[in-house]
Amino acid sequence: MKIAVVGGGVVGMSATVALLDAGHDVTCYEPGPIMGERSVGSTRIFRFAHVEPELVRLAGEARRGFDRWSELAGRPMVLPVECVITGSDLVERASAMAEVGADFEVVRAGSGRLRLPVREEPAVALVDVGGGVVDVDAVRAFLTERGGRAVVHEPVYRLDVTAGGAVAVTAPGGRTEFDALLLAAGAATAHLAAQVGIHVPPLLAHHLRCTFPVADGEWQAWIDLPRDRPGTYQHLAGPGRWAVGSAVEAAEVAWERGRDAAEAASRTALLEYARTHLAVDPTIVDEIYCTTVPNLDDGVHVRRNGPVVANYGVNLMKFAPVLGRDLAAAVST
Ligand SMILES: Cc1cc2nc3c(=O)[nH]c(=O)nc-3n(C[C@H](O)[C@H](O)[C@H](O)COP(=O)(O)OP(=O)(O)OC[C@H]3O[C@@H](n4cnc5c(N)ncnc54)[C@H](O)[C@@H]3O)c2cc1C
Repeated sequence: MKIAVVGGGVVGMSATVALLDAGHDVTCYEPGPIMGERSVGSTRIFRFAHVEPELVRLAGEARRGFDRWSELAGRPMVLPVECVITGSDLVERASAMAEVGADFEVVRAGSGRLRLPVREEPAVALVDVGGGVVDVDAVRAFLTERGGRAVVHEPVYRLDVTAGGAVAVTAPGGRTEFDALLLAAGAATAHLAAQVGIHVPPLLAHHLRCTFPVADGEWQAWIDLPRDRPGTYQHLAGPGRWAVGSAVEAAEVAWERGRDAAEAASRTALLEYARTHLAVDPTIVDEIYCTTVPNLDDGVHVRRNGPVVANYGVNLMKFAPVLGRDLAAAVST
């Protein structure tokens, strides 16, 4: 089939590679660098720990997919440091993991089982034994090597479903018809999807992740969701580098606040959090900005209308290999 993929983030590139491997004629439209928007940066958390058993199962398939990619690339793609979960929905996550048979332990402060750069250990924690950190640089290099030849560096302006059931893509290079199309354009997915009658939540919010110097160590990744203050996610982002995101009230990063104000509020909140709670040097040495979809829970969303399949969701990096496989199958049938 002749198939278009709109967006060269981790989702679009994973699907492009799966479609090329299946022998399809693929064009992936990406105006910027490959994996340069929401997939930017060098690390993300990988975890089995989800509230829904179905997502724990999906993480298991994704983990096997990362192992396969690692073998093909000759370098590991998930650093197996474990992932610690603390806070409000620990019991739900533990029960979903138990249902699927994913390996976890529930531990207490002082047990010697936690490796977190904190001033005070959390009272109780779930250790997701198979969790860790995705090496996004390795993923980007692998997907670029295997799928880069299909990428056209142009933005898509317009999508139309034709009377004959094909889909027409209008880009600076002209109008081209395809048998099917996968829409994985991140922040631009909602307005492109609307052109072909697919509803994707259009609301956006600002998000900033800051990195602080930390003592060398095999620190676990950590997701902390306390009831009395905004949650955080944290992990090693390279040797001696501790990345922390969130810790900020939703109103401070609402779209209407504007990027500059949202970034300033996030910086202030993260610095205060690092000073108060973490055993790190409270100096910001790196930042990643991106847009996110507010009020969207963990999970993968897929919508179809005729020849067009659209994907959206949050925290999609950890599912990349399985998303690529399943979206490629969905758009080519
Ligand atoms: C700071 C941060 C921390 C995160 N932490 C985690 C984590 O710990 N674990 C996890 O699993 N996930 C995490 N995520 C989320 C994860 O990285 C994203 O869900 C994932 O990268 C999204 O990939 P994507 O391909 O859907 O979107 P993107 O990477 O945004 O790709 C969409 C692409 O579409 C392109 N595009 C836009 N408009 C057009 C157009 N008109 N025509 C053609 N192309 C277009 C863009 O240039 C972009 O490259 C985090 C994200 C960030 C930014």
